[in-house]
Amino acid sequence: MTSETLYEIYQLLYDAFGSQHWWPGETAFEIMTGAILAQNTNWNNVEKAIANLKSGGYMTPDALHRIDNLQLAELIRPAGYYNIKTKRLKNFVNWLFDNYSGEPANLQNIYTDQLREELLGIKGIGRETADSILLYALGRPVFVVDAYTARIALRHELIEPGADYEQLRELFESNLTEDVAFFNEYHALLVKAGKDFCRTKARCSGCPLEELPHTLDIEYF
Ligand code: SF4
Repeated sequence: MTSETLYEIYQLLYDAFGSQHWWPGETAFEIMTGAILAQNTNWNNVEKAIANLKSGGYMTPDALHRIDNLQLAELIRPAGYYNIKTKRLKNFVNWLFDNYSGEPANLQNIYTDQLREELLGIKGIGRETADSILLYALGRPVFVVDAYTARIALRHELIEPGADYEQLRELFESNLTEDVAFFNEYHALLVKAGKDFCRTKARCSGCPLEELPHTLDIEYF
């Protein structure tokens, strides 16, 4: 039943919104960098920071490893929290050099669970960022969860109030076929639905999921 509902949600969202073409990026490293820059900001701001890095020739592991922190902070300023994100990018790239010779391609040989643990061990990389890197940069079948996912799942009574990140990830991964392209699109569609309709104050009228059973009578947000 849950599985059927999850597939139905996907289909309704896809029919309404179409493909979201996530995650834009020319290389795996650019996507990894984007995942860190995207924390607590919108994509337009991330794009400006990425453009600055690219135009300066800094969108490579080697260049980001060598760049001075102050200079990096200035380049990524448009993404907000730029001092914190500078440290996080440096932590990430240092890990890449300390363990994988600074080569994103070397990550491909590592099992997903191990890689996830390692990513979560990097200061400033949380579950959503780690899973975004695994799915969108490395093509691993991991379902990315965010606040929109939680809100929609809760309001459609697919999960209990207070469910944590791992419970939400488990909800999707255990009820859907593991498929990278499908997980990629599904997460992007949930974000679109969350931004356009399932906000803190829901706009159910006109939402593609309006016909499905849902409740707004939940104290959660
Ligand atoms: S806005 Fe309403 S119908 Fe749309 S996803 Fe949220 S609760 Fe469901």
